[in-house]
Amino acid sequence: MSTVLITGASRGIGKALAKKFAQNSYDLVINCIRSKDTLEALALEFENTCHITCIPCAGDVSDPLFVAEMFQKAREALGGIDILINNAGIADIGLFHEMSIERWQQIINTNLSSVFYCCRQAAPHMIQNKSGRIINISSVWGVTGASCEAAYSAAKGGVNAFTRALAKELAPSNIQVNAIACGAIDTQMNACFSSEERAALEEEIPCGRYGTPEEVAELAFSLAVSSSYLTGQIIGLDGGWI
Ligand code: NAP
Repeated sequence: MSTVLITGASRGIGKALAKKFAQNSYDLVINCIRSKDTLEALALEFENTCHITCIPCAGDVSDPLFVAEMFQKAREALGGIDILINNAGIADIGLFHEMSIERWQQIINTNLSSVFYCCRQAAPHMIQNKSGRIINISSVWGVTGASCEAAYSAAKGGVNAFTRALAKELAPSNIQVNAIACGAIDTQMNACFSSEERAALEEEIPCGRYGTPEEVAELAFSLAVSSSYLTGQIIGLDGGWI
């Protein structure tokens, strides 16, 4: 297995994932929605420093037509994707009854439907090869639910259930499907918290700190190279929080 597609790779967890796989000589397709220049610079950096092929592909993973184009590009350039990492996501904090229908749909489509769209595109090549890995970056809120994050919790809960179901469907084709349920990871997604809120949260986490994007990347990489018997799992990475 030598090719990896990572969604939401311009910063945070996705960028750390891309760096980890690039440093281990995997060819990459990296995606994000808005930060096209950053993504292109990152691809160039990986190509120059890690001597791999890295294709930047900016666009919206909640749009099934874009996802189909992205995989077509991946097939033309790399011959298919061996490892898919569904990482792109957006959060929303607020009272559920004040959320608009459009925002609900955006949260569900970006965090959950995108995972279906990407898996649907990736699976035929993996099934044909009788080999493949799918890793979904999920959240502890998908397991426990979070007050004022109902849509996000529902989407990540959906990702977890989808992961378990797909693992059963694809195991006979030797494709492993797992999810990482992250706790609080130090990225821009949590930049909305004040330093007081951050300190209060850190006190709640038994490890006493946020996790790092690099720690998520380490775990994802170990899943990518693990025994084929490890599948259908929602693996918590939360410093003992949940
Ligand atoms: P982040 O720093 O906000 O980065 C999000 C990434 O997703 C960016 O690259 C962004 O691209 C991309 N993105 C957003 N919407 C997209 C779309 N519609 N199509 C394509 N790309 C899109 O977030 P992060 O903390 O690294 O989060 C990564 C994943 O981990 C998410 O699924 C998140 O739910 C999950 N997670 C994070 C935490 C945490 O504490 N940070 C906890 C649990 C789970 P642009 O740069 O173009 O906007």
